[in-house]
Formats: sequence, structure tokens, C-alpha cells
Amino acid sequence: MIGMTDFGFKIHKDQLLDQDRPNVAYKEMIEKVPSLSLCISCGSCTATCNSSEMTGMGFRKLHLYLKTGLYVNLKRGLKYCQYCGKCWLVCPRGVNTRKAIVEMKRIFEIYKT
Ligand code: SF4
Ligand code: SF4
Repeated sequence: MIGMTDFGFKIHKDQLLDQDRPNVAYKEMIEKVPSLSLCISCGSCTATCNSSEMTGMGFRKLHLYLKTGLYVNLKRGLKYCQYCGKCWLVCPRGVNTRKAIVEMKRIFEIYKT
């Protein structure tokens, strides 16, 4: 077999989302933090987040990762949160983002697949 040519880029791993897959972790999350269901993905939380500015991580992304079951990305993003709570202060929908992050960490430990 002829050796692979290095073109300087590689193909990303498939990240197809199976929307029909039951997301037990998200269901549990909504029970713990009901205000999360009010999120409209406006991005105000991410816009105010210092960590987001430095790392590209923000609450809106974390929420999306949890919702869609992208736990690897969620784990990576969670480690950048400093629990400052600024995202909570600016949320126009009153989502308790700080509590959500604490619960995400806890739930992630259970559903890390
Ligand atoms: S600011 Fe609130 S409503 Fe907007 S994306 Fe963040 S959590 Fe959702
Ligand atoms: S609590 Fe975490 S996600 Fe929210 S603004 Fe602070 S560092 Fe960002």
C-alpha cells in the first residue's frame, strides 16, 4: 500500500447528531435546573464570559453540547469555567447558569460516554 500523503489537514471525526436518541442526562438536568428550559440561545452569557474570550468556551455552547450529547466537547469546555456567575447576571431569561454548570459537571461524571 502506498503511504498516506500528508496534506497538512485531516478530516474531522463524524459529529452527526442523533436527535432521536433519548438524552437522559439532559432530562435529568432540566429536573435539577428547570430554568434551563427557558434558554433562547441568545448568547448574552457567552458574550460576558471572560473564559469565553480566552478559550472560545461559553455557556451557550456548553448547553448545546449537553443537549446534543457531545460529552467530549462538554468535558473540554467545562474545565474553563471559573464559576464567576457573570453569565447568570446577564441572562435575560433568568437561567441559573451557574447552578447548571455545577450540575453539568456532576452529571457529566455519571454519563461520560
Ligand atoms: S443568556 Fe440565558 S437565554 Fe441567553 S443563551 Fe445564555 S442562558 Fe440562554
Ligand atoms: S460562570 Fe463560567 S461560563 Fe459563566 S461567565 Fe463565569 S466563567 Fe463564564
